[in-house]
Amino acid sequence: MPSEAGAGVSLAPVNIGHGQYTALVEPSTAFWSLVRSDRAGDMICDPSFLGRVEARIGEFATEMERLRYGLLPSAVYFNPTERCNMNCTYCYLPEGMRRRGAHMSREDIFRALVELRGYFRRTLPEGDMPQVIFHGSEPMMNRAAVFEAIDSFSEDFVFGVQTNGTLLDSEAIEYLTSREVSIGLSLDGPYSEVADRTRHTFSMHGVFDRVVRVLEALRGYESYSVICTVTLENLDHLSEMVDLLHALEAPTCMLNPVRCTLEGGRKARPSDSALAAAYVQALDRSYELYQESGRKLVVANFANIVLAMIAPTARRLMCDISPCGGGRCFFAVDAHGDLFPCSEFIGLEGFRGGNLFRGDLQGCFDSSAFRSVTQRAVEMIEPCRSCVFRHFCGAPCPAEAFELNGATASRGAFCDFYQEQARYALRVIADGREDAFLWDGWDRDVVTTFDVNSIS
Ligand code: SF4
Ligand code: SF4
Repeated sequence: MPSEAGAGVSLAPVNIGHGQYTALVEPSTAFWSLVRSDRAGDMICDPSFLGRVEARIGEFATEMERLRYGLLPSAVYFNPTERCNMNCTYCYLPEGMRRRGAHMSREDIFRALVELRGYFRRTLPEGDMPQVIFHGSEPMMNRAAVFEAIDSFSEDFVFGVQTNGTLLDSEAIEYLTSREVSIGLSLDGPYSEVADRTRHTFSMHGVFDRVVRVLEALRGYESYSVICTVTLENLDHLSEMVDLLHALEAPTCMLNPVRCTLEGGRKARPSDSALAAAYVQALDRSYELYQESGRKLVVANFANIVLAMIAPTARRLMCDISPCGGGRCFFAVDAHGDLFPCSEFIGLEGFRGGNLFRGDLQGCFDSSAFRSVTQRAVEMIEPCRSCVFRHFCGAPCPAEAFELNGATASRGAFCDFYQEQARYALRVIADGREDAFLWDGWDRDVVTTFDVNSIS
């Protein structure tokens, strides 16, 4: 039997905007159940139901604790250059850095990868391959050295490249795809008039056509995704963006709200309500397209929330939990070898945890710079500490929160949007449509620990 009132599990009823179902949430463990709305009041007090939840709640708490504090770093965002050939309006890297910044030599890239290899061999279980994602600025500005490194360290790392796509010619595409390097590309709109508003060169030339040519060349390649940064400029075109990417057979995209870390991002920030409406419409469109064609375009940032609900340990992205993944699941190396918890902190001196070339890697995880991110938990933040969705949001990005409010222990942008995203995910689950939004095979290695259907 459950404890008497006041001592046992307490479930919060949450209106998810569904005609039939209400969610009951135990926020500290992210446990939830969907119950018929007309029975929600009874269920909250039902001793049999509460007893079954209470019997498992310790297990859920342990699972959540492991996810939040028990993972090892296994990936690195590696910036082989500070330079970029573009001047996107919301970029989090300072313009001077992108125009004239440092550029790693081939020798330094190799030296850095040797350091990283040694670190991961000491820390990761045998057989686990760490990931290195060449990241920006624009990593293809240092293409020859990056490509040489990918071949030389192919036994040691799984590689990825996050690129603006403008420097990917057919030779580069052939190189990357033949080595199964994952490719992330950026595109902000379904046509040049929209996409080029935010993503253009220093001389204001748009790059839409060039990026679409790359997407066409990548048709059929499974390891690529497209990031669309959602701003005031493209908000009204997200559904058309989904149409375009689906037509191009992109396997995955992200519809990421613009980070408000720098002034450029803050200027392009849409309202939460407009963002939520456009985002939900775009997700609905992706569902329709799947119904019509049988082919999915997975919106990865939304899929991650659905996964966080139905299989918490299978989450793939780490921005919507706290502490976030920065400095604990992955970290970033800049073009000087400086170490940061995440690329989002590059350029923010107070968050530099050491330098790879000075042998600081082991110690950087204990530095105050890293600890201010890895110990930043949603429970420290008002009003998030009492939010029912706190483990499906994490109070957005600490870099953004720091720049917006002067403290990492504060809320970042888009609170209402994140709440609506969680509600929409629960509606999708209530309708039994979740598989349509997830990667095929997402449940291959997942064990069901609690079947919600068995108790509602
Ligand atoms: S930012 Fe908003 S949605 Fe996210 S945890 Fe805080 S209160 Fe909840
Ligand atoms: S929340 Fe921000 S700092 Fe954390 S991993 Fe995401 S982008 Fe990086």
